Amino acid sequence: MSLVIRGGRVLAGTPPTVTRADILIDGERITAVGVDLAAPVDAREIDARQHLVLPGLGNAHTHAASHLARGRAGSWTLEDLLTYAPANYAFRTPEDEYLSAAVGAIEMLKTGCTSAYDLYMAVPAITDEGLEAVVCAYRDVGVRVVLAPAVADVVFFQTVPGLLDLLPADLRRTVEAMQPAPTKGLLDLTERAIRRWHGGADGRIRMAVSPTIPNQATDEFLDGCAGLSREYGVGIHTHLAESKVQAVEGQRRWGKSIVARLADHGVLGPGFVGAHSIWLADDDLRMLADAGAAVAHNPGSNLRLGAGIAPVREMLDRGVAVGLGTDGSVCADNQNLFEALRIASVVSTIRFPHATERWLDAQTVWRLATSGTARVLGQAEDLGAIAPRAKADLVLLRAGSVFLRPLSDPVTALVYAETGASVDTVLVGGQVVVEHGRVTTEDRIFARAQDAADRQRAQSAQARAVAERLAPYVAAACRGAVATPLSINRFGAALPSTA
Ligand SMILES: [Zn+2]
Repeated sequence: MSLVIRGGRVLAGTPPTVTRADILIDGERITAVGVDLAAPVDAREIDARQHLVLPGLGNAHTHAASHLARGRAGSWTLEDLLTYAPANYAFRTPEDEYLSAAVGAIEMLKTGCTSAYDLYMAVPAITDEGLEAVVCAYRDVGVRVVLAPAVADVVFFQTVPGLLDLLPADLRRTVEAMQPAPTKGLLDLTERAIRRWHGGADGRIRMAVSPTIPNQATDEFLDGCAGLSREYGVGIHTHLAESKVQAVEGQRRWGKSIVARLADHGVLGPGFVGAHSIWLADDDLRMLADAGAAVAHNPGSNLRLGAGIAPVREMLDRGVAVGLGTDGSVCADNQNLFEALRIASVVSTIRFPHATERWLDAQTVWRLATSGTARVLGQAEDLGAIAPRAKADLVLLRAGSVFLRPLSDPVTALVYAETGASVDTVLVGGQVVVEHGRVTTEDRIFARAQDAADRQRAQSAQARAVAERLAPYVAAACRGAVATPLSINRFGAALPSTA
């Protein structure tokens, strides 16, 4: 099936610039970009004369399960978020998981994002049915995904230094009764998922491995994850040094940084993605660079949770590949990459007052959300650019949109002014999945998702009451932990190597 997009203002090249061009698509790939291209007589034609045509943006880090709990987070730290996980994620049916994933995927498409790296989590445990529901949601909505069951074989509350000693007897019993998932069972679940779904939906579904937080992974589990990643040639993605509590606890338990521990277990490599990567020292960045590893930068989530600001400039200096993500909708509220672009740029200024050459400018953050995320997804050859042989993941914005009038430098306008509201048409792999700003199934999905979220919230009242009692103790333990000095500055960013 051929398709030609006629006469759009196409953002392409390095650095990207806008020129009037046609885009010819055969099947899932772009075959030509140029002026007045001849198309097969039966080719479908899209008139793009009133549109700006962009490569689909890529979300380097999100969570399918999170979207159904959107709007529930107050002024939460990461540790609060983890304390409330049972209240937010328990009592779900596979249908709930489908709706949660679909809500996030629809939002991504409607705001110009065509691919995502998704760490799916569930409470008390991921089931094959729940995971299948998420696969189906991505397949049905049409977002390209690298999906990993995000799992742990150590209970979160065991990883907050000093927490158990602070708890009153009844809460302590509650926490101590929480059983971690069996290590082998988690590895088996991940392997089944890879065998069953990797490469599905014409290659739009890929699977990966995720020990969700290294401090919640035993050595045996890290070894097993690294083994699966090697055996099947799939990616491995973890929440890396997201909070200072994690960095302090890692040092305390293993006497080394989290990155050093992952290196010891063979986890680092070109398929490795560290989400957040905030509390890293210069040596950690060097190890990531030497391994050819990548980072998923989620500035919106990091600021929302007060986690810190990742040292992205230093990562780029060292040649670490960096993609841009949102994180899940509980801690990032939305899946809007245009918002992430703007935040990534403006927050970078805080770390380098008056050193404007060190800021992440519009072109830099645009690269993170396009070619950067494509690299994080392990699909650098196929995604993130409009060029012959690339996959036809394309976004048409209404050029007459209020956010793009008047238009000066297009990339500057896209990063700082555009909100995603100008998205009109979206293609994934040459298939039109958004038309006139709408995903065809969205109304039905949203209605069902509201019912599911309301029902789950009512059912989880007791779990929420336990979390409300636990939260002050978790906060007190975390405050104790973060009083520990680390050779990292107050934003969580690595000190310059000269310091
Ligand atoms: Zn996350």
